Amino acid sequence: MHINMNLKRISLLVPLFFFAVGLIFSQDEPVISSDFAGGNIIVVKTGDDTLWLKPDLSETEGEWFYWYFKVSNISGKEIFFQFMMDNQFTAFGPAYSINNNNTWKWYGENRVHKNGFSFAFSPEDTVAWFCTAFPYTGKDLDSFLGRSRIMDRLVRDTLCISPENRVIEKLSIRPSGDNPETRVLITARHHACEMMANYVLEGIIESILNEVELSYLRDQVEFLIVPFMDKDGVENGEQGKNRMPRDHNRDYVGESIHQSTAALREKIPAWSGGKMKIALDLHCPWITGMNNEWIYLVGKEDPIMEAEQVRFAELLENHTRGELSFRSGDFLPYGTAWNVSKSFTKGMSFSDWASGLDKVSLATTLEFPYANILGVQVTKDNARAFGKAMAFALMDYLKEISDSPYSVQNEDFQEISIPSTTVSCHKFNCSY
Ligand SMILES: [Zn+2]
Repeated sequence: MHINMNLKRISLLVPLFFFAVGLIFSQDEPVISSDFAGGNIIVVKTGDDTLWLKPDLSETEGEWFYWYFKVSNISGKEIFFQFMMDNQFTAFGPAYSINNNNTWKWYGENRVHKNGFSFAFSPEDTVAWFCTAFPYTGKDLDSFLGRSRIMDRLVRDTLCISPENRVIEKLSIRPSGDNPETRVLITARHHACEMMANYVLEGIIESILNEVELSYLRDQVEFLIVPFMDKDGVENGEQGKNRMPRDHNRDYVGESIHQSTAALREKIPAWSGGKMKIALDLHCPWITGMNNEWIYLVGKEDPIMEAEQVRFAELLENHTRGELSFRSGDFLPYGTAWNVSKSFTKGMSFSDWASGLDKVSLATTLEFPYANILGVQVTKDNARAFGKAMAFALMDYLKEISDSPYSVQNEDFQEISIPSTTVSCHKFNCSY
């Protein structure tokens, strides 16, 4: 009788035991989420500390590579992250930040095998973030603008309101007399995923405001800067390049479908008043390979504008110091690689639109790689340092065109020198 009772208890307890173990196991599995600013991931399946993942490209025509996720329940585990698409990693693998989402690093070379990587977390690790590169969303801009030495001289205003009721920021830096000699327009994130451009932009802004030797820019030049042309895309974690039904950087012809592009087209000609000499659009290229692991300007079809780009590239090379290199010879002439007419059949780009505005001397796209610049890892700080070089080159260029008879207004100026660049075209690397 006694034995029978025990057997009965055991028979009742066994299922309970397995249920409890299953509960503990499921609670202990890694948990992935993307419900935060910039987050983007699709978990295809999970099992045995392996996660099968892919980016959410539902807004994208074709394939691209933006993803950004958080993973918790990781303490002491080795987890394998298996992506189910090609071309999802830079030469230095994924970017990651452990126990916070601020201290981003590259995982490193040769960490990715067959579209996946494993990561061994220490017992102290409770949560980690992984991303294509170093994320930059509205909170990062807030943090940057919150520094007193920035806000004292910079006016934060609204270009327009996004379809999802977000403010699309317009930053202004004006000379004290409010009668600038020239004006400069700078934009970024026509493609929401191109996050590294914003660290360069921080370097440009901080240098304009604070570098002693750049007083000319503070005294003579008015800047209008739009850090997020696709603000909703940035915050929602959408990839943005080749967005359907229309890429923001093809929205400068006919009737614009995006608020930010429509607002620029409406407001900039009046703001310029014939004084805007430079329009600069910051981008990031394809994720790896030829043309995508060095900084370059995208050559314009118009030979006069192209000559101005070449000159600016020379000035930029002169000022580029420190970890990251810039070679003016890496200029991508029109007609080479992806920079050909068929890349622009879906609409006009920002730089083509700006090139046509009255008195604009230099309208250009700059491509700044996500991770690898001639073998050197991109960091927040060296990207900002490159932004400083950009600010110096902007000053030199503006001084030159104000002094030189060979400005774009001089129609006799036809001789140009274009560096020869031999390039191949990755089927996806059409970038800006
Ligand atoms: Zn782009």
